[in-house]
Amino acid sequence: MQSKLNLTNFINGEFVEPLSKAYVNNYNPSTGEVYSYVPDSNAEDVDNAVKAAKKAFPAWRSKTFLERSAILNKIADGIEARLQEFAEAESRDQGKPVQLAKSLDIPRAAYNFRFFAGYILYLEEKTYMTDTPVRALNYTVRSPLGVAGLISPWNLPLYLLTWKIAPAIAFGNTCVCKPSEITSYTAWLLCQVMKDVGVPAGVVNIVFGTGPNAGSALVSHPSVPLVSFTGGTKTGEVITKLAAPLNKKLSLELGGKNPSLVFDDCNLEECVTTSVRSSFNNQGEICLCNSRIYVQSTIYQQFVSKFVEKAKNWKVGDPAAQGTDMGALVSAEHLAKIEYYVNLAREEGGKIELGGKRAVIGEENSPLRNGYFYEPTIITGLSPQSRVMKEEIFGPVVTICPFDTEEQALEYANDNQYGLSSSLWTQNLNRAHNVAARIEAGIVWVNCWMIRDLRTPFGGQKASGVGREGGEFSYDCYTELKTVCIKF
Ligand code: NAD
Repeated sequence: MQSKLNLTNFINGEFVEPLSKAYVNNYNPSTGEVYSYVPDSNAEDVDNAVKAAKKAFPAWRSKTFLERSAILNKIADGIEARLQEFAEAESRDQGKPVQLAKSLDIPRAAYNFRFFAGYILYLEEKTYMTDTPVRALNYTVRSPLGVAGLISPWNLPLYLLTWKIAPAIAFGNTCVCKPSEITSYTAWLLCQVMKDVGVPAGVVNIVFGTGPNAGSALVSHPSVPLVSFTGGTKTGEVITKLAAPLNKKLSLELGGKNPSLVFDDCNLEECVTTSVRSSFNNQGEICLCNSRIYVQSTIYQQFVSKFVEKAKNWKVGDPAAQGTDMGALVSAEHLAKIEYYVNLAREEGGKIELGGKRAVIGEENSPLRNGYFYEPTIITGLSPQSRVMKEEIFGPVVTICPFDTEEQALEYANDNQYGLSSSLWTQNLNRAHNVAARIEAGIVWVNCWMIRDLRTPFGGQKASGVGREGGEFSYDCYTELKTVCIKF
């Protein structure tokens, strides 16, 4: 293991130190120790990366789909060949169990490249025949935009970063990426893969740093016509303000406060098992986690007791150990935020059914004693209007609240600024269709959670974002669409 390593930027196919000469600490969340340093790049570093991406663009866009597809597949091969190393690095950087990174994050990162490597081989365009007042054939043509600015968060670091890089370059753009400064390590390993498998210099550039420094410089750069951002809603607002005067194309995947509606005709066992996972997987730090569970009054008590019993088996522990379901929260700041909201729940009259405190992990002298571990926490008794039920917490904290009718369930679900994802549990097909149509969310999972088909549109309504990505929607996002009209 490398210790106290300085990460470097990756510009024009080379690993380079930041011109800023500034670094931020990189903590291991399960021990609280600094184990490496991440560049805090400045506007000059970003400018160099954008220049390299701009220079690489003409040759990259001129490659055939087959050539680009082959390179994307090689990147996927390169990630898969180092699966264990990537999984351990993601766990050490983010706090999640190695097993989760190995089964979810890293395979999905590789699959993001494979998916778009295949997708670009089957693209279709539309034609429109005009027959009055003159006859004409209209057809659409797409072109890449140029340099894409890609900014990603800390919760699924490599998974979400590659969800942007893969379509951006598959459709012919080059890119400059700015991963979260809290979890940059696997992005840096990805740069090694890019170099090893021969991605042409300048096609993918990664500039590490904080949001206000490197991030803002990237969003404001005049040679970056497209910004795809995933992160918090407040940051999304800042980015929109920076990008709007420059008329940039924006894709924003933002925060959530996802509801799950549990009707009394559901398969309760399956619902409870999945709900534990959808509440606490990845320490509850997935934008798609359900954080508000509304249960029909007729089965409310039964649901709460079964859910609490099941959640007691959700094991918090050493992320490196086999059998650990939940690792450490990503940072000391995030741990403080979780503690703040659980205390607020107490003030707001909530009853802590499970958890509600830090988890003590490891033997007395173990470094894990300093980790940011928190117990899976279940809260009942809160008003649907309470702040804890309204605001995004983004941790292992879930609230449960009863409802009586379908109408009331929908009212509770939709009475929130966010609209990212939702779950619906019922055996009644009519109800499933009717409620799904009326929930304000980018995706509704019926009797399941987090099944992702990468062809489907992904994104949020209301404060959860603007735009959709995935399959043809990524094609829309990462290309410019043009109509050619030929009179005949
Ligand atoms: P964040 O908004 O703090 O940071 C996200 C990224 O934006 C980081 O790389 C950060 O450095 C950068 N950034 C911060 N300020 C910036 C600025 N002024 N200009 C440019 N870039 C800037 O979010 P986070 O705390 O890393 O992630 C958690 C949030 O992300 C949660 O709200 C979660 O719901 C959301 N999220 C959404 C999705 C989705 O698909 N909708 C997926 C994952 C996470």
